[in-house]
Amino acid sequence: MNRILTLLIGFLTLFSCENVNKTDPATSNSDTNSEKIDETQPTFGIVIHGGAGTILKENMSDSLETAYKQKLEEAIRIGHDILKSGGTAMEAVTKTINVMEDSPLFNAGKGAVFTHEETNELDASVMDGATLNAGAVAGVTKIKNPIDLALQVMTNSPHVLLAGEGAELFASERGFEMMDPSYFYTENRFQALQKVKQKEATSVSSLNLQAYDPFIKNSKFGTVGCAALDKNGNLAAGTSTGGMTNKRWNRIGDAPIIGAGTYANNATCAVSSTGWGEYFIRAMVAHDISAMMEYKGVTLEEAAVEVIQTKVPELGGNGGIVAIDTNGNVTMEFNTAGMYRAHMNAEGKLVVGIYGEE
Ligand code: ASP
Repeated sequence: MNRILTLLIGFLTLFSCENVNKTDPATSNSDTNSEKIDETQPTFGIVIHGGAGTILKENMSDSLETAYKQKLEEAIRIGHDILKSGGTAMEAVTKTINVMEDSPLFNAGKGAVFTHEETNELDASVMDGATLNAGAVAGVTKIKNPIDLALQVMTNSPHVLLAGEGAELFASERGFEMMDPSYFYTENRFQALQKVKQKEATSVSSLNLQAYDPFIKNSKFGTVGCAALDKNGNLAAGTSTGGMTNKRWNRIGDAPIIGAGTYANNATCAVSSTGWGEYFIRAMVAHDISAMMEYKGVTLEEAAVEVIQTKVPELGGNGGIVAIDTNGNVTMEFNTAGMYRAHMNAEGKLVVGIYGEE
């Protein structure tokens, strides 16, 4: 009798442990969304960022905070509607990014930061997780929505990355409108450049990178990016940026570098990065997260924490990522004071955040 009782208790304990493990990911981290309400429906989801950096509540007016939140919500709802009605992850990613590129709030498209020469040079990339196909553009100056051009490079050229005038020649051959560079002028971004130049002139040589660091570290970034999972189980990611204020020498950051700023693979996850691009290139941030999942079998959350909280800061860099995996789990990980971000799951639950610990 005792043996039967012991066996019964053992069986019940095993059964309940298994259930705890199944539900654990949903409760282990507030930035992870793995709730599944209706398991019979194909899941989908979308996550976006509008840049990471020294984004502090005390430096933000209520009206600006509201403007950011509204634009993040407007953007993510566009992508969510596409996914809900059966559209592709790539369509959701590019259309969502278009909304942020057209807003002066973000450092992409209309709101791009200024180079040292007081011009705007835009970078963007996309990647399709189903085919591992990718497209990117760097240093374009006349393209309203660089993410659309990155998609054209992917779908209508034999190449992955086009730069500068050549990229713009390709764009005009594909029927893209050429914007007057004055379209990208915004007073805020222009004044930000003047401030950085003044600090640079009074304090340090810009060639002394050690001394230059605090300026870069304290400057806001503001790149935009999106990662999505569609109802067919396909993942896609995209990133679009004006780069970093006061960049020169045709500097190109991580945003158009596949594996650094953007990566998507149906076997693992889709990732878009934002932050100090040189470090994100050296750490191959987006691919590293995917590779950890693929080769080490860790979760998206574990991989993102390792790369963003350990690997990138140990090199000296800062920033964040947004990512979604094939099961719809979402991560928004950053090591800066804040990151503009939002995600929506298949049930339409919306989460919008700006600062840390929200
Ligand atoms: N990663 C971008 C770059 O280095 C900047 C940003 O994310 O805001 O060009």
